[in-house]
Amino acid sequence: MLLKSIPKVDKFITNKAFEGLSKTLITKITKEVLENLRVNILKKDVKNFDEEGLISAVLDEYQNITSSSLKPLINATGIIVHTNLGRSLLNEDIFKNAIKIATSYNNLEYDLEKGKRGERYEHITKSLKKLLDCEDVLVVNNNASAVFLILNTFCKNKEVVVSRGELVEIGGSFRIPEVMSQSGAILKEIGTTNKTHLRDYKNAISENTSMLMKVHKSNYSIEGFSSEVSFEEISKLSKYENLIDYYDMGSGHIFDLPYNLSKNEPSIIELMKSNPSLLSFSGDKLLGSVQAGIIIGKKELIEKLKKNQLLRMLRVDKITFALLEESINLYLKNELDSIPTLQMLNTKIEVLETRAKDLKKRIESFLKCEVIKTSTMVGGGTTPNKKIPSFALTLEFKNFKANKIEEILRKNLIIARIENDKVLLDFRTIKEEDIEKIANILEKEFKNV
Ligand SMILES: *Cc1c(COP(=O)(O)O)cnc(C)c1O
Repeated sequence: MLLKSIPKVDKFITNKAFEGLSKTLITKITKEVLENLRVNILKKDVKNFDEEGLISAVLDEYQNITSSSLKPLINATGIIVHTNLGRSLLNEDIFKNAIKIATSYNNLEYDLEKGKRGERYEHITKSLKKLLDCEDVLVVNNNASAVFLILNTFCKNKEVVVSRGELVEIGGSFRIPEVMSQSGAILKEIGTTNKTHLRDYKNAISENTSMLMKVHKSNYSIEGFSSEVSFEEISKLSKYENLIDYYDMGSGHIFDLPYNLSKNEPSIIELMKSNPSLLSFSGDKLLGSVQAGIIIGKKELIEKLKKNQLLRMLRVDKITFALLEESINLYLKNELDSIPTLQMLNTKIEVLETRAKDLKKRIESFLKCEVIKTSTMVGGGTTPNKKIPSFALTLEFKNFKANKIEEILRKNLIIARIENDKVLLDFRTIKEEDIEKIANILEKEFKNV
């Protein structure tokens, strides 16, 4: 009986409630909703229904499917370069120029002086060369692409010498040995997990060696007895042996970092002093810009990279160029506070404490909270295991377990962290303008509950 009263799709979609909406999409959703209803009636999960309920189910799904799946959220984990949360943030100002580029025709591949076809890769080159004192630059889709392109161009069927301690896996899908074999390069492992010496590199060089490569360990570090060879030494040996030296430095910080993070983590500026053949790094880790892979180094080598057909598959869009160029200009003008990643890293601990106390004042009448000194990490495969100081606010409520509070926050798009069974809001990554928003959400969820 109930089955017979399921409305017919054709008639149902003419309901006034769907006026002005896409008929195609409403039809698709209606079919799904009615089919579900049929199945549930057969399973006896549904005993009755009304048309009103069906209409609002269709409208809810319409709303759900046409709203953006990517949502802005508040990162209260304290991890600055959080890969799951979109890595580095950009400042709104940076978009102003990019909007103009994206919404107008532009000279992406057009030489305005000659009135002829121009070079896509020229745009960013001038500013990056000035900033990094390098001979030439190439920007690709991400740093993984950079590694692949370099190995494929220079090391196909040739040996690349890498320390065993640097054969890392990054983010679950990027493993140096596998990337190497896919690119056609032959991996020549040297040293041991904890120790590699310069003589290991020397001894590994053969007729078929093309490159000495160093890889940043990114997401792990070795404690206790360990030693690795600096890129400077590898670079020197490469020059002596007439080989290419290449450092996949991962994160790519241009200048020294605070909290002694640069100890054993030389900046790009520092690395460039040894005049390397090639260096590559991500655009959206500590550099603080968009997803990109930036390759810098010798002009003749970059020229060869540009001739590789693969580059066409790895090339970046005008919007990336526009945004990256703006970021690089901020570095050139020394306006580092306009780069959110660096601004968060550089914010004084006293400022974080004040912000934590301000939020506490707003919520302590209904939520048990405490300002605590804590520590966090940069994240995103940068400075592994190195702590940076921070301040956090712990939140406790009635007999709620920490993961229940965490879930309530998460549903409101605040991502917190749990430490020692307590929910923490870490101020290292909370934007000042979000504090008010957090206070309002906490009030909505916990006041008068
Ligand atoms: C992060 C990282 C990569 C991958 O960079 P993406 O920009 O994420 O593609 C490669 N190598 C190292 C050492 C890294 O840390």
